[in-house]
Amino acid sequence: MSIYQSNCNEYDRDRISKIVDGHLKYHSIDDDLSGRNVILKVNLLSGKDPSKAVTTHPEFVAGIVSSLKERGAECIIADSPGGEFTVSRLKDAYRSSGLEEVAASTGAKLNYDVGRSVLENERGRILKRIPVCNFVLGKDMMIALPKFKTHMLMGITCASKIMYGIIPGEEKIHFHTRFPHPINFAGILLDITDRIRPDLFIVDAIVGMEGEGPAQGDPRRIGLIASGTDNIEVDAHLCRVCGIEYGSVPIFSALRSFDGGFKFDNIEVSGDEPGFRLDPPFVMPGTSAIIGDPPELFKRMVRSLSSPKPVIDAEKCIACGICRNNCAGSAIEIGNDRARIDMSRCIRCFCCHELCPEGAISIKPPLKISKYLIEKIYRLANSKSYTKKS
Ligand code: SF4
Ligand code: SF4
Repeated sequence: MSIYQSNCNEYDRDRISKIVDGHLKYHSIDDDLSGRNVILKVNLLSGKDPSKAVTTHPEFVAGIVSSLKERGAECIIADSPGGEFTVSRLKDAYRSSGLEEVAASTGAKLNYDVGRSVLENERGRILKRIPVCNFVLGKDMMIALPKFKTHMLMGITCASKIMYGIIPGEEKIHFHTRFPHPINFAGILLDITDRIRPDLFIVDAIVGMEGEGPAQGDPRRIGLIASGTDNIEVDAHLCRVCGIEYGSVPIFSALRSFDGGFKFDNIEVSGDEPGFRLDPPFVMPGTSAIIGDPPELFKRMVRSLSSPKPVIDAEKCIACGICRNNCAGSAIEIGNDRARIDMSRCIRCFCCHELCPEGAISIKPPLKISKYLIEKIYRLANSKSYTKKS
């Protein structure tokens, strides 16, 4: 297993198609895919203008469709964005993210099957049964196309997080409610990806997002397309490229907690500039970097002092109710033409921040001094390395 990467600085479907052809060859994807259905699992989130770097860029998707169609494949673009998993919501998201145009110009299909199933998962770390969208069933191949972004809860969203989009929209709320701790939440992402593993991940890292991702951060040019078959290797590689500490990404902590760790040094990188590093590094979200499993004594203190909080801007709020309808803690009410949060019920899942169409919810970081002190205490108490135990 290894990573292949190419320099690419512009969203031009013809150029991307040529580049991706090299990636498909590198990963031994069949030259002849005639008559085979290939699901392209994109990042749709809530359907945003491509310039905001929230969703997989439509030109990126178009380039990949073109490359696969030359091999004879039938491409189906699919995701379950946040909120209700309905045909009308999918239509809106496809239109606003530019994917409707991609389908019209390339002949790819857009998934409108909103059926769902439950898969048994006996070997799961946490999840023994996984509700999934039917679009992942009966496929011949699946290629995941994550956008590389920061993420308020998970540190980053890339190859491991993208598979959360196969959980039917509104059912995502229950997982946030049941697994509010970032490490457990990362554990269910590992379970989901292990159960429904794409054949390949091709990352849209031409322009990523730093800061308050995954919905309200700042676009940041990385200039890369990177691919791999292993979600952890892909995530780890992009973190290294963007100067993100592994310790600030719960998915790696979950690997340590559940599987004993991961050998980061074994990742081989081929293609353009394998040693490329972004300078300066990515700006991370203002949310807590305190992950891992703190000693019981500190847990309550850590939570109250180090947790960031969602805050609603009354000027921007249009009282649409989307945040309330997707709040895992049932903490939001709409009254007097604006949303209000009951912080005693808030579990800090940050779904409201992701889904607010008006950008009216910001995340207020914890006081620096309390975060600094808690981090010091936590690191002293929990100073294991992130390498695999022998
Ligand atoms: S905060 Fe955003 S999502 Fe919530 S009601 Fe206001 S505009 Fe709608
Ligand atoms: S208020 Fe926002 S962050 Fe808090 S539980 Fe609800 S959706 Fe999650």
